[in-house]
Amino acid sequence: MHILVCGGAGYVGAHAALALSRAGHAVTVLDNLATGHRAAVRWGPLVQADLLQPDTLDAAFQRPVDAVMHFCARSLVGESVRAPYAYYENNVVGTLHLLQAMARRGVDRLVFSSTAAIFGNPLSALIDEDHRQAPINPYGASKLMVERILADAAQAYGLRSVCLRYFNAAGAAPDENIGESHQPETHLIPNVLRAALGTGPALKLFGDDYDTVDGTCVRDYVHVLDLADAHLRALELMQRQPGAHAFNLGNGQGFSVLQVLQAARAVTGRDIGYQQAGRRAGDPAVLVAASDKARNVLGWQPRHPGLEEIIDSAWRWHQAPAY
Ligand code: UDP
Repeated sequence: MHILVCGGAGYVGAHAALALSRAGHAVTVLDNLATGHRAAVRWGPLVQADLLQPDTLDAAFQRPVDAVMHFCARSLVGESVRAPYAYYENNVVGTLHLLQAMARRGVDRLVFSSTAAIFGNPLSALIDEDHRQAPINPYGASKLMVERILADAAQAYGLRSVCLRYFNAAGAAPDENIGESHQPETHLIPNVLRAALGTGPALKLFGDDYDTVDGTCVRDYVHVLDLADAHLRALELMQRQPGAHAFNLGNGQGFSVLQVLQAARAVTGRDIGYQQAGRRAGDPAVLVAASDKARNVLGWQPRHPGLEEIIDSAWRWHQAPAY
């Protein structure tokens, strides 16, 4: 198949493009390079276009597209609290433009990057697909709006879609020279590793008074290559079944910020220090996935579930990042 990977110059998108290419699919990447990296586009041509400028999208559909994977988004919880208009514009309006461009060309398959942030504060230890959806920040709200649009589009236009709700994407494919590189970097594992290398500032620990095992926030870190694999399986599901589908993707095990720090010390052999800082706006205390549905329906089985293995791949990338 020929897959249009929107946001394929970004972190998860580049790993998905790699997985698609390995599986024998042709890839075209659409990216505005606002946060993506030209050097991460290695598995097909780059069309530099912007979802907020619909006229620029034509070039991405020159060659007939069988399905779209949509990774373009602003994705920082704290920033979304401070700049909600930018989040709704990019994540909702931009996606509408993409959906309209697809509809005009009869492209009826979409895999959408969604997030654990659509659930808000969890009511249970593990979050499954039936959990209440009540985002507590504009980022999560913007993604939930798109999920709703996709459900409506399935009814109205027969659009086939799969929403993949990532918990905390982490790790890298250092042997393929792709990994996580944000400017500024806000994510925990890259910040821990950059502090270890001295290529970033000292680590700040955002909040130690949450109701968790050690007071720091608990997250479910999932290897980006396992997320990429779920996208291939989502494509297969859309071949078999119409409708709008959604899956929660995580390893089902939560680690606190301090536990991640401890694991990073073990992986790097370095004594990484940190500074206490206040809570970061919009952060729920605990987010851990129940991914039974992905296992049962998609046949998804994470191949790199161990926290140290995930951190080790990120560590190898961060020691010599290609971009
Ligand atoms: N965090 C932290 N210091 C950092 C970055 C993140 O203490 O420099 C915490 C953050 O408050 C959250 C967890 O680590 O509880 C994971 O944050 P990240 O930004 O990686 O992912 P998110 O859960 O926001 O998607």
